[in-house]
Amino acid sequence: MQFLHNLSGTRTCFLCQVTPGDTAGLCHLCFSMLPWCNPIPRIDNIPIQAAFDYLSPITHWIQALKFHQALYYARYLADLWYHRWHNMRSTPLPEYIVPIPLHTHRLRSRGFNQTLLLAQRLKKRLSIPINTTLLTKIDHTQAQATLTADARKQNLTHAFTVSTDVMPAHVTLLDDVVTTGATMQAARHTLLTAGVQTVEIWCMAYTPPHRVQIP
Ligand SMILES: [Zn+2]
Repeated sequence: MQFLHNLSGTRTCFLCQVTPGDTAGLCHLCFSMLPWCNPIPRIDNIPIQAAFDYLSPITHWIQALKFHQALYYARYLADLWYHRWHNMRSTPLPEYIVPIPLHTHRLRSRGFNQTLLLAQRLKKRLSIPINTTLLTKIDHTQAQATLTADARKQNLTHAFTVSTDVMPAHVTLLDDVVTTGATMQAARHTLLTAGVQTVEIWCMAYTPPHRVQIP
């Protein structure tokens, strides 16, 4: 119902549904209470451009998007990412958004790649094309959430390959959530080794190390 409410063209905040939502669909209070990611985390000494810490309500939005096909959350998340990061940039935008690919087995069982949906919204906001052919996932890696940090790195060492000879100079990787950063590091390393000069890291949410749950 919330979705229909927003589609009707009203500008009521999509969280509290009371006050006008004039900042990326949210009222000032709801906007200020979101778990904005701060300070900015880094991988390999480059910033992870995350909008949020992976805390409520962002956890619920991302899980609803991934597991319950609440696809409209892709729009909310990407718009809030845009609001958080776009005006902060002083450097040129990347030539392509490269969504972290899902292995085809995972894609088949889920039916869609949530990160591609996020990329499609950012493409609209930023006018940057999406490149889904540059980076390919080659191994059916064991579900990362069940592994320790060291095992995740090991598992991902040969997880990606590039599938073109013509390399762009500057791209950004995009994922929904970055946890240990192992997936991003592996994908970034693959692109840099293949000749891409600058590889940024964008994500909706970041899980700080002390909150990573390792069984
Ligand atoms: Zn509100």
